[in-house]
Amino acid sequence: MTTAIYDGRALINGTRVPAQDGQTFDCISPVDGRLLTTVARCGQADVDAAVAAGRAAFEERRWCSMAPAARKRVMIKFADQLLAHADELALMETLDMGKPIQYARNVDVNSAANCLRWYGEAVDKIYDEIAPTASTALALIQREPMGVVGVIVPWNYPMIMAAWKIAPALAAGNSVVLKPSEKSPLTALRLAELALEAGIPPGVFNVVPGYGVEAGSPLALHMDVDCIAFTGSTRVGKQIHVMAGQSNLKRAWTELGGKSPNIVFADCPNLDRAVQAAVGSIFFNQGESCNAPSRLFVEASIREQFLEKALALVPGYAPANPLVPDTVMGAIVDQTQMNSVLRYIALGKQEGAALLAGGEQALVDTGGCYVQPTIFAGVTPDMTIAREEIFGPVLSVLSFTDAADVVCQANASVYGLQAAVWSRDINKALGVARALRAGTVHVNQYDEDDITVPFGGYKQSGVGRDKSLHAFDKYTETKTTWIRIDSPV
Ligand code: NAD
Repeated sequence: MTTAIYDGRALINGTRVPAQDGQTFDCISPVDGRLLTTVARCGQADVDAAVAAGRAAFEERRWCSMAPAARKRVMIKFADQLLAHADELALMETLDMGKPIQYARNVDVNSAANCLRWYGEAVDKIYDEIAPTASTALALIQREPMGVVGVIVPWNYPMIMAAWKIAPALAAGNSVVLKPSEKSPLTALRLAELALEAGIPPGVFNVVPGYGVEAGSPLALHMDVDCIAFTGSTRVGKQIHVMAGQSNLKRAWTELGGKSPNIVFADCPNLDRAVQAAVGSIFFNQGESCNAPSRLFVEASIREQFLEKALALVPGYAPANPLVPDTVMGAIVDQTQMNSVLRYIALGKQEGAALLAGGEQALVDTGGCYVQPTIFAGVTPDMTIAREEIFGPVLSVLSFTDAADVVCQANASVYGLQAAVWSRDINKALGVARALRAGTVHVNQYDEDDITVPFGGYKQSGVGRDKSLHAFDKYTETKTTWIRIDSPV
Protein backbone atom coordinates (compact mmCIF):
# COMPACT_ATOMS: atom_id res chain seq x y z
CA MET A 1 0.00 0.00 0.00
CA THR A 2 1.35 3.41 -0.87
CA THR A 3 0.92 6.27 1.54
CA ALA A 4 -1.89 8.59 0.53
CA ILE A 5 -1.27 12.25 1.24
CA TYR A 6 -4.44 14.08 2.13
CA ASP A 7 -5.08 17.77 2.72
CA GLY A 8 -6.00 18.13 6.39
CA ARG A 9 -6.56 21.88 6.42
CA ALA A 10 -9.90 23.32 7.47
CA LEU A 11 -12.29 24.67 4.85
CA ILE A 12 -13.62 28.10 5.78
CA ASN A 13 -15.34 30.55 3.47
CA GLY A 14 -14.53 28.47 0.43
CA THR A 15 -10.81 28.24 1.13
CA ARG A 16 -8.54 25.58 2.61
CA VAL A 17 -6.79 27.12 5.62
CA PRO A 18 -4.56 25.91 8.46
CA ALA A 19 -5.67 26.47 12.05
CA GLN A 20 -4.99 30.13 12.93
CA ASP A 21 -2.45 29.13 15.57
CA GLY A 22 -0.85 26.63 13.19
CA GLN A 23 -1.64 23.64 15.43
CA THR A 24 -2.20 20.22 13.85
CA PHE A 25 -2.93 16.70 15.03
CA ASP A 26 -1.87 13.40 13.50
CA CYS A 27 -4.34 11.40 11.47
CA ILE A 28 -3.32 7.77 12.05
CA SER A 29 -4.82 4.90 10.08
CA PRO A 30 -6.21 2.06 12.21
CA VAL A 31 -5.58 -0.26 9.27
CA ASP A 32 -1.86 -0.47 10.02
CA GLY A 33 -0.95 2.42 12.29
CA ARG A 34 0.52 4.60 9.56
CA LEU A 35 0.40 8.38 9.59
CA LEU A 36 -2.00 9.48 6.85
CA THR A 37 -1.61 13.22 7.22
CA THR A 38 -1.68 16.02 9.75
CA VAL A 39 -4.95 17.83 10.26
CA ALA A 40 -5.74 21.41 11.32
CA ARG A 41 -6.41 21.43 15.05
CA CYS A 42 -9.10 24.06 15.02
CA GLY A 43 -10.00 26.07 18.10
CA GLN A 44 -12.10 29.04 19.12
CA ALA A 45 -10.60 31.44 16.55
CA ASP A 46 -11.20 29.04 13.67
CA VAL A 47 -14.74 28.30 14.81
CA ASP A 48 -15.36 32.06 15.07
CA ALA A 49 -14.09 32.52 11.51
CA ALA A 50 -16.24 29.66 10.19
CA VAL A 51 -19.36 30.92 11.97
CA ALA A 52 -18.71 34.46 10.69
CA ALA A 53 -18.37 33.10 7.16
CA GLY A 54 -21.61 31.16 7.54
CA ARG A 55 -23.36 34.21 8.98
CA ALA A 56 -22.15 36.49 6.17
CA ALA A 57 -23.29 34.01 3.53
CA PHE A 58 -26.67 33.84 5.21
CA GLU A 59 -27.11 37.58 5.69
CA GLU A 60 -26.04 38.25 2.11
CA ARG A 61 -28.57 35.58 1.12
CA ARG A 62 -26.07 33.88 -1.18
CA TRP A 63 -27.77 30.54 -0.79
CA CYS A 64 -31.05 30.92 1.07
CA SER A 65 -32.48 33.35 -1.50
CA MET A 66 -31.92 30.94 -4.37
CA ALA A 67 -35.22 29.51 -5.55
CA PRO A 68 -35.79 26.05 -4.09
CA ALA A 69 -35.62 24.59 -7.59
CA ALA A 70 -32.17 26.13 -8.03
CA ARG A 71 -30.97 24.84 -4.63
CA LYS A 72 -32.32 21.47 -5.66
CA ARG A 73 -30.17 21.42 -8.79
CA VAL A 74 -27.04 22.25 -6.79
CA MET A 75 -27.80 19.62 -4.13
CA ILE A 76 -28.27 16.98 -6.83
CA LYS A 77 -24.98 18.04 -8.42
CA PHE A 78 -23.37 17.76 -4.98
CA ALA A 79 -24.72 14.19 -4.72
CA ASP A 80 -23.40 13.42 -8.21
CA GLN A 81 -19.99 14.74 -7.18
CA LEU A 82 -19.85 12.18 -4.38
CA LEU A 83 -20.61 9.39 -6.82
CA ALA A 84 -18.09 10.70 -9.32
CA HIS A 85 -15.45 10.56 -6.55
CA ALA A 86 -16.76 7.41 -4.93
CA ASP A 87 -13.57 5.37 -5.12
CA GLU A 88 -11.47 8.22 -3.75
CA LEU A 89 -13.89 8.86 -0.87
CA ALA A 90 -14.20 5.17 -0.04
CA LEU A 91 -10.44 4.71 0.11
CA MET A 92 -10.10 7.81 2.29
CA GLU A 93 -12.81 6.57 4.67
CA THR A 94 -11.35 3.08 4.96
CA LEU A 95 -7.84 4.37 5.61
CA ASP A 96 -9.12 6.92 8.11
CA MET A 97 -11.49 4.79 10.21
CA GLY A 98 -10.94 1.18 9.21
CA LYS A 99 -14.24 -0.01 7.74
CA PRO A 100 -14.13 -2.54 4.88
CA ILE A 101 -13.71 -0.78 1.57
CA GLN A 102 -16.62 -2.63 -0.04
CA TYR A 103 -18.96 -1.03 2.52
CA ALA A 104 -17.26 2.36 2.42
CA ARG A 105 -17.89 2.35 -1.34
CA ASN A 106 -21.29 0.65 -1.59
CA VAL A 107 -22.91 1.75 1.66
CA ASP A 108 -21.32 4.96 2.94
CA VAL A 109 -20.70 6.86 -0.30
CA ASN A 110 -23.95 5.72 -1.92
CA SER A 111 -26.02 6.40 1.16
CA ALA A 112 -24.53 9.88 1.70
CA ALA A 113 -25.09 10.75 -1.98
CA ASN A 114 -28.64 9.43 -1.85
CA CYS A 115 -29.33 11.55 1.23
CA LEU A 116 -28.06 14.74 -0.43
CA ARG A 117 -30.10 14.00 -3.54
CA TRP A 118 -33.27 13.15 -1.60
CA TYR A 119 -33.33 16.39 0.41
CA GLY A 120 -32.42 18.32 -2.72
CA GLU A 121 -35.31 16.75 -4.59
CA ALA A 122 -37.68 17.35 -1.68
CA VAL A 123 -37.04 21.03 -1.21
CA ASP A 124 -39.11 22.31 -4.14
CA LYS A 125 -42.03 20.02 -3.35
CA ILE A 126 -42.86 21.18 0.14
CA TYR A 127 -45.63 23.75 0.48
CA ASP A 128 -46.23 26.16 3.32
CA GLU A 129 -49.66 26.61 4.91
CA ILE A 130 -52.53 29.05 5.22
CA ALA A 131 -54.36 28.68 8.52
CA PRO A 132 -58.15 28.16 8.61
CA THR A 133 -58.80 31.49 10.32
CA ALA A 134 -61.77 33.86 10.09
CA SER A 135 -62.21 35.61 6.72
CA THR A 136 -61.13 38.98 8.13
CA ALA A 137 -57.52 37.92 8.05
CA LEU A 138 -55.04 35.69 6.31
CA ALA A 139 -52.50 33.80 8.40
CA LEU A 140 -49.50 32.49 6.45
CA ILE A 141 -47.50 29.76 8.19
CA GLN A 142 -44.09 29.55 6.62
CA ARG A 143 -40.89 27.62 7.17
CA GLU A 144 -37.74 29.69 7.14
CA PRO A 145 -34.09 28.60 7.41
CA MET A 146 -32.63 29.24 10.85
CA GLY A 147 -29.33 30.79 9.87
CA VAL A 148 -26.08 29.11 10.92
CA VAL A 149 -26.32 25.44 11.84
CA GLY A 150 -23.46 23.81 13.75
CA VAL A 151 -23.03 20.10 13.10
CA ILE A 152 -20.90 17.74 15.22
CA VAL A 153 -20.57 14.12 14.13
CA PRO A 154 -18.87 10.89 15.24
CA TRP A 155 -16.49 8.61 13.41
CA ASN A 156 -18.45 5.43 12.76
CA TYR A 157 -20.19 6.52 9.53
CA PRO A 158 -18.49 9.87 8.95
CA MET A 159 -20.04 10.68 5.58
CA ILE A 160 -23.50 9.33 6.35
CA MET A 161 -23.78 11.02 9.75
CA ALA A 162 -22.68 14.30 8.17
CA ALA A 163 -25.07 13.89 5.23
CA TRP A 164 -28.08 13.18 7.47
CA LYS A 165 -27.61 16.66 8.94
CA ILE A 166 -26.03 18.82 6.27
CA ALA A 167 -28.44 17.64 3.55
CA PRO A 168 -31.67 18.90 5.17
CA ALA A 169 -29.89 21.90 6.74
CA LEU A 170 -28.42 23.03 3.41
CA ALA A 171 -31.49 22.16 1.36
CA ALA A 172 -33.57 24.34 3.70
CA GLY A 173 -31.24 27.29 2.97
CA ASN A 174 -29.03 27.40 6.07
CA SER A 175 -25.29 27.86 6.34
CA VAL A 176 -23.43 24.99 8.02
CA VAL A 177 -20.30 24.67 10.14
CA LEU A 178 -19.39 20.99 10.42
CA LYS A 179 -16.99 19.60 13.02
CA PRO A 180 -16.09 16.03 12.11
CA SER A 181 -14.68 13.61 14.66
CA GLU A 182 -10.95 13.97 15.31
CA LYS A 183 -10.80 10.22 14.62
CA SER A 184 -12.15 10.53 11.05
CA PRO A 185 -11.82 14.10 9.74
CA LEU A 186 -10.83 13.51 6.11
CA THR A 187 -13.99 12.82 4.13
CA ALA A 188 -15.84 15.78 5.67
CA LEU A 189 -13.16 18.11 4.32
CA ARG A 190 -13.38 16.53 0.90
CA LEU A 191 -17.20 16.74 0.93
CA ALA A 192 -16.98 20.49 1.50
CA GLU A 193 -14.68 20.83 -1.53
CA LEU A 194 -17.11 18.83 -3.64
CA ALA A 195 -19.96 21.04 -2.43
CA LEU A 196 -18.08 24.11 -3.67
CA GLU A 197 -17.47 22.45 -7.02
CA ALA A 198 -21.18 21.65 -7.22
CA GLY A 199 -22.06 25.33 -6.79
CA ILE A 200 -22.75 25.76 -3.08
CA PRO A 201 -21.49 29.33 -2.53
CA PRO A 202 -18.36 29.94 -0.42
CA GLY A 203 -19.12 30.39 3.27
CA VAL A 204 -22.27 28.28 3.16
CA PHE A 205 -20.60 24.99 4.09
CA ASN A 206 -17.52 25.19 6.34
CA VAL A 207 -15.57 22.39 8.02
CA VAL A 208 -13.50 22.83 11.20
CA PRO A 209 -11.67 19.63 12.16
CA GLY A 210 -10.40 19.33 15.69
CA TYR A 211 -10.99 17.89 19.13
CA GLY A 212 -14.34 17.94 20.89
CA VAL A 213 -13.43 20.30 23.69
CA GLU A 214 -11.36 22.60 21.47
CA ALA A 215 -13.54 22.88 18.37
CA GLY A 216 -16.85 21.19 19.27
CA SER A 217 -17.56 23.11 22.48
CA PRO A 218 -16.90 26.55 20.94
CA LEU A 219 -19.41 25.64 18.24
CA ALA A 220 -22.04 24.42 20.73
CA LEU A 221 -21.47 27.49 22.92
CA HIS A 222 -21.33 30.01 20.08
CA MET A 223 -23.65 32.98 20.45
CA ASP A 224 -24.08 33.31 16.69
CA VAL A 225 -24.96 29.67 15.95
CA ASP A 226 -28.73 29.19 15.70
CA CYS A 227 -28.89 25.41 15.92
CA ILE A 228 -26.55 22.61 16.95
CA ALA A 229 -27.12 19.15 15.52
CA PHE A 230 -25.05 16.49 17.24
CA THR A 231 -24.50 12.78 16.80
CA GLY A 232 -22.30 11.00 19.31
CA SER A 233 -22.25 9.60 22.80
CA THR A 234 -24.96 10.20 25.37
CA ARG A 235 -22.31 11.61 27.73
CA VAL A 236 -21.36 14.41 25.32
CA GLY A 237 -24.93 14.79 24.05
CA LYS A 238 -26.03 15.83 27.52
CA GLN A 239 -23.30 18.48 27.55
CA ILE A 240 -24.50 19.77 24.18
CA HIS A 241 -27.93 20.54 25.63
CA VAL A 242 -26.29 22.26 28.59
CA MET A 243 -24.07 24.34 26.27
CA ALA A 244 -27.08 25.32 24.17
CA GLY A 245 -28.83 26.50 27.33
CA GLN A 246 -25.76 28.24 28.70
CA SER A 247 -25.28 30.27 25.55
CA ASN A 248 -28.07 31.53 23.29
CA LEU A 249 -30.65 28.76 23.67
CA LYS A 250 -29.79 27.58 20.19
CA ARG A 251 -31.93 24.68 19.03
CA ALA A 252 -30.16 21.46 20.08
CA TRP A 253 -30.73 18.07 18.46
CA THR A 254 -28.93 14.96 19.60
CA GLU A 255 -28.65 11.45 18.13
CA LEU A 256 -26.97 9.40 20.84
CA GLY A 257 -26.08 5.92 21.99
CA GLY A 258 -27.97 2.65 22.03
CA LYS A 259 -28.09 -0.82 23.53
CA SER A 260 -30.71 -2.26 21.25
CA PRO A 261 -32.59 -5.44 22.23
CA ASN A 262 -33.21 -8.14 19.63
CA ILE A 263 -35.95 -10.50 20.83
CA VAL A 264 -36.31 -13.92 19.19
CA PHE A 265 -39.31 -16.01 20.19
CA ALA A 266 -39.39 -19.76 19.57
CA ASP A 267 -42.02 -19.25 16.86
CA CYS A 268 -39.67 -17.06 14.85
CA PRO A 269 -40.74 -17.49 11.20
CA ASN A 270 -37.27 -18.05 9.79
CA LEU A 271 -34.56 -19.09 12.20
CA ASP A 272 -31.72 -18.87 9.70
CA ARG A 273 -32.69 -15.32 8.80
CA ALA A 274 -32.92 -14.38 12.46
CA VAL A 275 -29.47 -15.83 13.17
CA GLN A 276 -27.97 -14.09 10.16
CA ALA A 277 -29.53 -10.77 11.20
CA ALA A 278 -28.44 -11.12 14.83
CA VAL A 279 -24.84 -11.92 13.92
CA GLY A 280 -24.54 -9.76 10.80
CA SER A 281 -25.99 -6.64 12.43
CA ILE A 282 -23.80 -6.72 15.54
CA PHE A 283 -20.63 -7.38 13.53
CA PHE A 284 -21.36 -4.98 10.67
CA ASN A 285 -19.06 -1.96 10.78
CA GLN A 286 -17.02 -3.78 13.51
CA GLY A 287 -19.98 -3.33 15.84
CA GLU A 288 -19.47 0.42 15.72
CA SER A 289 -23.12 1.17 14.96
CA CYS A 290 -25.39 3.06 17.34
CA ASN A 291 -28.31 0.81 16.36
CA ALA A 292 -26.41 -2.50 16.57
CA PRO A 293 -28.60 -5.16 18.24
CA SER A 294 -26.11 -5.72 21.06
CA ARG A 295 -28.53 -7.43 23.48
CA LEU A 296 -29.89 -10.69 22.09
CA PHE A 297 -32.82 -12.34 23.89
CA VAL A 298 -33.53 -15.88 22.62
CA GLU A 299 -36.38 -18.00 23.97
CA ALA A 300 -35.04 -20.99 25.92
CA SER A 301 -36.46 -23.76 23.71
CA ILE A 302 -34.48 -22.61 20.65
CA ARG A 303 -31.44 -21.12 22.39
CA GLU A 304 -29.02 -24.04 21.85
CA GLN A 305 -29.96 -24.36 18.20
CA PHE A 306 -29.76 -20.60 17.70
CA LEU A 307 -26.33 -20.29 19.29
CA GLU A 308 -24.98 -23.26 17.34
CA LYS A 309 -26.03 -21.61 14.09
CA ALA A 310 -24.66 -18.24 15.25
CA LEU A 311 -21.28 -19.70 16.18
CA ALA A 312 -21.06 -21.34 12.78
CA LEU A 313 -21.25 -17.89 11.18
CA VAL A 314 -18.56 -16.27 13.34
CA PRO A 315 -15.51 -17.39 11.31
CA GLY A 316 -16.99 -15.53 8.34
CA TYR A 317 -16.49 -12.30 10.28
CA ALA A 318 -12.81 -12.80 11.06
CA PRO A 319 -11.09 -9.39 10.93
CA ALA A 320 -8.94 -8.77 7.88
CA ASN A 321 -7.31 -5.92 6.02
CA PRO A 322 -10.24 -3.62 5.15
CA LEU A 323 -8.59 -2.58 1.90
CA VAL A 324 -9.04 -6.12 0.55
CA PRO A 325 -12.25 -6.05 -1.50
CA ASP A 326 -14.10 -8.94 0.14
CA THR A 327 -13.24 -8.16 3.78
CA VAL A 328 -16.37 -7.95 5.95
CA MET A 329 -14.81 -7.03 9.31
CA GLY A 330 -12.19 -4.32 9.30
CA ALA A 331 -10.31 -2.33 11.94
CA ILE A 332 -11.63 -0.62 15.06
CA VAL A 333 -11.27 3.14 14.64
CA ASP A 334 -8.26 3.63 16.93
CA GLN A 335 -6.24 2.25 19.85
CA THR A 336 -8.41 4.03 22.43
CA GLN A 337 -11.62 2.53 21.11
CA MET A 338 -10.00 -0.90 20.71
CA ASN A 339 -8.79 -0.80 24.31
CA SER A 340 -12.25 0.22 25.46
CA VAL A 341 -13.80 -2.77 23.66
CA LEU A 342 -11.18 -5.12 25.12
CA ARG A 343 -11.86 -3.70 28.58
CA TYR A 344 -15.57 -4.52 28.20
CA ILE A 345 -14.66 -8.05 27.09
CA ALA A 346 -12.50 -8.44 30.21
CA LEU A 347 -15.39 -7.18 32.35
CA GLY A 348 -17.74 -9.70 30.72
CA LYS A 349 -15.40 -12.52 31.69
CA GLN A 350 -14.84 -11.14 35.19
CA GLU A 351 -18.55 -10.72 35.88
CA GLY A 352 -19.23 -14.33 34.93
CA ALA A 353 -20.58 -14.30 31.35
CA ALA A 354 -19.69 -17.34 29.22
CA LEU A 355 -17.36 -16.45 26.38
CA LEU A 356 -18.50 -18.51 23.38
CA ALA A 357 -16.41 -16.89 20.64
CA GLY A 358 -13.60 -14.37 20.17
CA GLY A 359 -12.60 -12.19 23.06
CA GLU A 360 -9.12 -11.23 21.85
CA GLN A 361 -7.32 -8.58 19.90
CA ALA A 362 -6.53 -9.78 16.37
CA LEU A 363 -3.94 -9.16 13.65
CA VAL A 364 -1.57 -7.62 16.21
CA ASP A 365 1.40 -7.81 13.82
CA THR A 366 -0.24 -5.40 11.38
CA GLY A 367 0.14 -2.47 13.78
CA GLY A 368 -3.59 -1.85 13.26
CA CYS A 369 -6.56 -2.10 15.64
CA TYR A 370 -8.52 -5.34 15.30
CA VAL A 371 -10.80 -7.26 17.66
CA GLN A 372 -12.23 -10.73 17.12
CA PRO A 373 -16.00 -11.02 16.74
CA THR A 374 -17.09 -11.90 20.26
CA ILE A 375 -20.17 -13.63 21.70
CA PHE A 376 -21.04 -13.90 25.38
CA ALA A 377 -23.89 -16.14 26.59
CA GLY A 378 -25.31 -16.38 30.10
CA VAL A 379 -25.38 -12.61 30.35
CA THR A 380 -27.59 -11.24 33.14
CA PRO A 381 -29.20 -7.78 33.17
CA ASP A 382 -26.94 -6.50 35.96
CA MET A 383 -23.71 -7.19 34.05
CA THR A 384 -21.85 -4.23 32.58
CA ILE A 385 -21.91 -5.77 29.10
CA ALA A 386 -25.72 -5.94 29.30
CA ARG A 387 -26.08 -2.30 30.30
CA GLU A 388 -23.38 -0.18 28.67
CA GLU A 389 -22.84 0.56 25.01
CA ILE A 390 -19.64 -1.24 23.96
CA PHE A 391 -19.53 0.05 20.37
CA GLY A 392 -17.52 -2.91 19.17
CA PRO A 393 -18.09 -6.45 17.83
CA VAL A 394 -19.47 -7.90 21.07
CA LEU A 395 -22.82 -9.68 21.34
CA SER A 396 -24.43 -10.29 24.75
CA VAL A 397 -26.96 -13.14 24.86
CA LEU A 398 -29.58 -12.97 27.64
CA SER A 399 -32.52 -15.18 28.52
CA PHE A 400 -36.17 -14.54 29.38
CA THR A 401 -39.27 -16.36 30.54
CA ASP A 402 -42.18 -14.84 28.59
CA ALA A 403 -43.25 -11.80 26.57
CA ALA A 404 -43.91 -9.64 29.62
CA ASP A 405 -40.53 -10.50 31.10
CA VAL A 406 -38.60 -9.79 27.90
CA VAL A 407 -40.35 -6.45 27.33
CA CYS A 408 -39.50 -5.47 30.90
CA GLN A 409 -35.84 -6.45 30.43
CA ALA A 410 -35.61 -4.85 26.99
CA ASN A 411 -36.98 -1.56 28.30
CA ALA A 412 -34.75 -1.60 31.37
CA SER A 413 -32.13 0.51 29.64
CA VAL A 414 -31.32 4.20 29.60
CA TYR A 415 -31.33 3.89 25.80
CA GLY A 416 -34.22 3.52 23.39
CA LEU A 417 -32.81 3.70 19.88
CA GLN A 418 -33.91 0.51 18.14
CA ALA A 419 -35.31 -2.94 18.91
CA ALA A 420 -36.45 -6.05 17.10
CA VAL A 421 -38.95 -8.82 17.67
CA TRP A 422 -39.15 -12.12 15.81
CA SER A 423 -42.39 -14.15 15.93
CA ARG A 424 -44.86 -15.58 13.43
CA ASP A 425 -47.69 -14.68 15.83
CA ILE A 426 -48.83 -11.26 14.62
CA ASN A 427 -50.50 -10.41 17.92
CA LYS A 428 -47.40 -11.22 19.91
CA ALA A 429 -45.05 -9.46 17.48
CA LEU A 430 -47.09 -6.27 17.31
CA GLY A 431 -47.99 -6.33 21.00
CA VAL A 432 -44.31 -6.51 21.91
CA ALA A 433 -43.39 -3.94 19.24
CA ARG A 434 -45.89 -1.51 20.78
CA ALA A 435 -44.58 -2.07 24.28
CA LEU A 436 -40.94 -1.51 23.35
CA ARG A 437 -39.69 1.99 24.11
CA ALA A 438 -37.59 2.59 20.99
CA GLY A 439 -37.55 4.99 18.07
CA THR A 440 -37.53 2.12 15.59
CA VAL A 441 -38.80 -1.43 16.06
CA HIS A 442 -38.08 -4.13 13.49
CA VAL A 443 -40.41 -7.10 13.10
CA ASN A 444 -38.94 -10.29 11.64
CA GLN A 445 -35.94 -8.47 10.14
CA TYR A 446 -33.24 -6.06 11.24
CA ASP A 447 -31.81 -4.53 8.09
CA GLU A 448 -34.55 -2.47 6.47
CA ASP A 449 -33.49 1.13 6.14
CA ASP A 450 -34.54 4.00 3.97
CA ILE A 451 -34.01 7.74 3.82
CA THR A 452 -37.81 8.16 3.90
CA VAL A 453 -38.14 7.01 7.53
CA PRO A 454 -37.17 8.93 10.68
CA PHE A 455 -34.15 7.75 12.67
CA GLY A 456 -33.63 8.57 16.32
CA GLY A 457 -34.32 7.42 19.80
CA TYR A 458 -36.45 7.49 22.90
CA LYS A 459 -35.00 8.26 26.32
CA GLN A 460 -31.24 8.91 26.46
CA SER A 461 -30.77 7.90 22.84
CA GLY A 462 -31.39 11.50 21.94
CA VAL A 463 -33.70 14.32 21.02
CA GLY A 464 -35.10 14.73 17.51
CA ARG A 465 -35.03 12.64 14.36
CA ASP A 466 -32.67 12.46 11.41
CA LYS A 467 -33.82 11.41 7.93
CA SER A 468 -37.26 11.73 6.32
CA LEU A 469 -39.16 14.99 5.89
CA HIS A 470 -39.28 15.28 9.71
CA ALA A 471 -35.62 16.35 9.64
CA PHE A 472 -36.60 19.66 8.03
CA ASP A 473 -38.32 20.54 11.32
CA LYS A 474 -34.88 20.66 12.96
CA TYR A 475 -33.41 23.20 10.58
CA THR A 476 -36.32 25.57 10.02
CA GLU A 477 -38.24 28.05 12.13
CA THR A 478 -42.00 28.40 11.79
CA LYS A 479 -43.17 31.93 11.09
CA THR A 480 -46.75 33.14 11.15
CA THR A 481 -47.63 36.27 9.18
CA TRP A 482 -51.05 37.80 9.89
CA ILE A 483 -52.55 39.91 7.12
CA ARG A 484 -55.70 41.94 7.79
CA ILE A 485 -58.36 41.80 5.10
CA ASP A 486 -60.72 44.79 4.94
CA SER A 487 -62.92 43.32 2.29
CA PRO A 488 -64.98 45.82 0.25
CA VAL A 489 -67.44 43.05 -0.69
P1 NAD B 1 -18.34 11.25 21.12
O1 NAD B 1 -19.52 11.76 21.86
O2 NAD B 1 -17.11 10.98 21.87
O3 NAD B 1 -17.92 12.30 19.98
C1 NAD B 1 -18.84 12.72 19.00
C2 NAD B 1 -18.40 14.06 18.47
O4 NAD B 1 -18.49 15.00 19.54
C3 NAD B 1 -16.96 14.12 17.98
O5 NAD B 1 -16.89 14.95 16.86
C4 NAD B 1 -16.23 14.73 19.17
O6 NAD B 1 -15.06 15.41 18.80
C5 NAD B 1 -17.28 15.69 19.67
N1 NAD B 1 -17.11 16.07 21.08
C6 NAD B 1 -16.54 15.35 22.08
N2 NAD B 1 -16.54 16.06 23.23
C7 NAD B 1 -17.16 17.24 22.95
C8 NAD B 1 -17.47 18.39 23.72
N3 NAD B 1 -17.16 18.48 25.02
N4 NAD B 1 -18.11 19.42 23.10
C9 NAD B 1 -18.45 19.34 21.82
N5 NAD B 1 -18.16 18.29 21.02
C10 NAD B 1 -17.53 17.25 21.59
O7 NAD B 1 -18.84 9.97 20.33
P2 NAD B 1 -18.01 9.06 19.34
O8 NAD B 1 -17.15 8.15 20.13
O9 NAD B 1 -17.39 9.87 18.27
O10 NAD B 1 -19.18 8.23 18.63
C11 NAD B 1 -19.74 7.11 19.18
C12 NAD B 1 -21.09 7.43 19.77
O11 NAD B 1 -21.95 7.99 18.78
C13 NAD B 1 -21.79 6.20 20.26
O12 NAD B 1 -22.36 6.44 21.52
C14 NAD B 1 -22.88 5.96 19.23
O13 NAD B 1 -23.98 5.25 19.69
C15 NAD B 1 -23.22 7.36 18.85
N6 NAD B 1 -23.91 7.39 17.55
C16 NAD B 1 -25.26 7.64 17.53
C17 NAD B 1 -25.94 7.65 16.32
C18 NAD B 1 -27.42 7.92 16.28
O14 NAD B 1 -27.92 8.24 15.21
N7 NAD B 1 -28.15 7.81 17.37
C19 NAD B 1 -25.26 7.40 15.14
C20 NAD B 1 -23.89 7.16 15.20
C21 NAD B 1 -23.22 7.15 16.42
